Amino acid sequence: TNMQYRHLGRSGLKVSVLSLGGWVTYGAQVGDDAAFSCMKAAYDAGINFFDNAEVYAGGESERSMGRAIKHFGWKRSDLVISTKIYWGGGEGPNDKGLSRKHIIEGTKASLERLQLDYVDLIFAHRPDNLTPMEEVVRAFNWIIEKGYAFYWGTSEWSAEQISDAHRVAEKLGLIAPLMEQPQYNMFHRERFEKEYAPLFKKYGLGTTIWSPLASGVLSGKYNSGTVPEGSRFAVTDYAVIKRIKEGALDTEEGKAKLQKVIALEPIAKKLDCTLAQLALAWCISNPNVSTVITGASKPEQVTENVKALAVVPKLSSEILEQIDAILDNKPAA
Ligand code: NDP
Repeated sequence: TNMQYRHLGRSGLKVSVLSLGGWVTYGAQVGDDAAFSCMKAAYDAGINFFDNAEVYAGGESERSMGRAIKHFGWKRSDLVISTKIYWGGGEGPNDKGLSRKHIIEGTKASLERLQLDYVDLIFAHRPDNLTPMEEVVRAFNWIIEKGYAFYWGTSEWSAEQISDAHRVAEKLGLIAPLMEQPQYNMFHRERFEKEYAPLFKKYGLGTTIWSPLASGVLSGKYNSGTVPEGSRFAVTDYAVIKRIKEGALDTEEGKAKLQKVIALEPIAKKLDCTLAQLALAWCISNPNVSTVITGASKPEQVTENVKALAVVPKLSSEILEQIDAILDNKPAA
């Protein structure tokens, strides 16, 4: 399958429709060996975009990806690298949030860990309502002016907050956020499909969506309610993963979702693909998605997941309606 590339929103930058992120996996759940082979499998499949954040594995995810980029000697201009700023490493009052101080110090520290002169994309990893929007917009513009990043964006900001950033940037004659990084998958649709709808039209907002498999749940690997060895939910020393795992496997809501995954199996079978490929293809088929950030602990997962591209043309309106009927969560217009 040939990789496809999409413009990141209303910009000249092209990102592969599937990309790879480090989150809880690289620098934590798996070591450099697995991280490197996943990144190599991704790169060989035409994936050009690799996502990271200062907070991932306490900085070790950036370090691991940085070592991989160096190890393989990839040409910098062939890669689109991101990081996200909000939660810095320390406990100090200025190690967190979107003050000008933390945005700039956080970015510099990330670049050092990645062993890069610049990232292509820099995100505000969350909104910070205690810092004036003008300070945030000016700080990210300074980062771009300095050449530390080419584009800036947001992650998990409300439509109102994104619009506010645009208003401030316009007033000051500065660069507005280009892209948002929201969760989007078969189980999590409301914000992306409804709340952001006006932003796609008005600003040409680009999107780099996360957890397309809902942490692996949509691959069907947890359908029996047990946790396979080596899988993400077997990683118990991460509070955030523990919470996601409990929500997915132990609550009534989670169990109802597992039933939906089971109900999707015949559709995957009919389309001759795996559940993971179906779930990823479903994300890709939304034209407002610029790139789907996948995660992988093994290179075989990357190889399986990139084949989702071949499934996209099979998602007829009839199939999409069948999927909607099973999911039963399509946001009302
Ligand atoms: P997914 O929901 O796709 O989960 C990925 C995990 O699912 C893998 O690490 C692997 O875990 C498992 N998996 C992947 N493919 C398969 C397969 N074919 N069969 C079975 N299991 C599979 O994405 P993530 O939650 O990892 O999110 C992707 C990226 O998005 C992150 O790395 C990060 O860059 C970004 N992100 C951003 C956030 C934000 O706030 N901006 C928040 C969260 C993520 P395992 O093998 O261990 O079970």
